Amino acid sequence: MESNITPEFIIRYLRSLPYPDSALFQEMEQYAQQRYIPIIQKEAAQLLRVLSQLKKPERILEIGTAIGYSALHLLAGLRPGGKLVTIEKEPEMTEPAWEFLERAGKSSMVELIEDDALCVLEQLSGSYDMIFMDAAKGQYQEFFDLAFPRLNAGGILISDNVLYKGYVADGAVAEHKRRTIVQRLRAYLDMLVRHPLLDTCVIPIGDGVAVSVRKWESEKHGE
Ligand code: SAH
Ligand code: MG
Repeated sequence: MESNITPEFIIRYLRSLPYPDSALFQEMEQYAQQRYIPIIQKEAAQLLRVLSQLKKPERILEIGTAIGYSALHLLAGLRPGGKLVTIEKEPEMTEPAWEFLERAGKSSMVELIEDDALCVLEQLSGSYDMIFMDAAKGQYQEFFDLAFPRLNAGGILISDNVLYKGYVADGAVAEHKRRTIVQRLRAYLDMLVRHPLLDTCVIPIGDGVAVSVRKWESEKHGE
């Protein structure tokens, strides 16, 4: 619950709201908590649902499946016959992920690829209406370079953890590894907001979520 992004009393209140919840989601949240698996926070998961319902995507790409928690939220608005392609390199994740997706009755809508995202993205075909970026934070730019060409005009790119516990906004980070991640995330956010083909909004809920929309080619920056 501790966060340097949203005041704690706000988070507590947001999480106390009576959102419809399922036993399966609760089980997944517990599963992740017990194993320190960084699934998306509840209030940000709701954002995924809302965006999916608004977009009604036919094809979704997720980079970083973990146990399939965000995947199930992203699927909320998937069109009938649509597909979510999700990439995860760790077998300890893909196994429970597939099990949870099956128990939710959604596995037929999902293609789960167990491999490094960079390798998969290099060979990926097809185009996507929604892309959820949620794997190694230091590699977002590389993932972006490979995935962005596959985002349809009007498509939504959601990048998670972009404020990284608040460090991205604060600056006073001593530890080297963290400092590198912070510098890369800052460069990534700069790139997103400058990108002539994107409109981006950074939302300070969860661990920071950047929502970008790919403009139609005829729209120029700032108009
Ligand atoms: N999207 C999930 C959480 C993902 S956590 C949710 O919110 O429910 C990030 C995941 O990305 C981890 O499971 C990690 O194993 C995976 N990952 C990190 N780097 C990766 C890479 N290069 N290729 C594929 N998966 C990667
Ligand atoms: Mg995340």
